[in-house]
Amino acid sequence: MEDDINSIKEYAYANNIPIMQDEGINYLINYIKENNIKNILEIGTAIGYSAIMMCMADKDVSVVTIERDEKRYLEAIKNIKKFKLEERIHLIYNDALEVKLNNQYDLIFIDAAKAQNKNIFERFEKNLRESGTIITDNMNFHGLIFEDEKNITSRNLRQLVRKIKDYRIFLENNVYYETEILNIGDGIAISIKK
Ligand code: SAH
Ligand code: MG
Repeated sequence: MEDDINSIKEYAYANNIPIMQDEGINYLINYIKENNIKNILEIGTAIGYSAIMMCMADKDVSVVTIERDEKRYLEAIKNIKKFKLEERIHLIYNDALEVKLNNQYDLIFIDAAKAQNKNIFERFEKNLRESGTIITDNMNFHGLIFEDEKNITSRNLRQLVRKIKDYRIFLENNVYYETEILNIGDGIAISIKK
């Protein structure tokens, strides 16, 4: 099991797939345990690492997870089989902004294209149960959020950083949620529905 996890991590590093950092995933697992979370919606499966790890938190946890990249989706299927989690992890191969869901989830974990955070949040918040939590990864965007914009030479990168800053403000000003942004891993936002 430990070996299988390590081989998923190695595949991710070798193929430049940005899976959650240890600190972040450990926080997430504890959060799931402490808040008795059972049903999770994840946006951004990649190769299934975080979905598999979240299932480790408790045997009653189940995850619906969305991925738009075919190669990663296929790799996620393989990994989920390896862990015999086919019954507990339901993969959706599509762009999240095309997906409509009707179920309610205890936790929504947003870890997809960073420029889409706000659109994804607004698309799926109706699927969050009363007092549920939306967690967003990469709020620090590799520390670039704290960098002077003048020092970010790529225009694309600068725009992305601005988008994440806007999303931070959107969360902080959203009166329907109590948001806390933690400097854990690459920065995670915990937004609890009031
Ligand atoms: N949660 C994973 C890492 C996800 S990396 C882990 O920690 O193990 C982000 C993934 O989101 C990428 O694989 C990318 O293809 C996917 N993604 C980005 N935007 C998306 C969208 N709009 N819909 C579906 N998947 C998306
Ligand atoms: Mg991430």
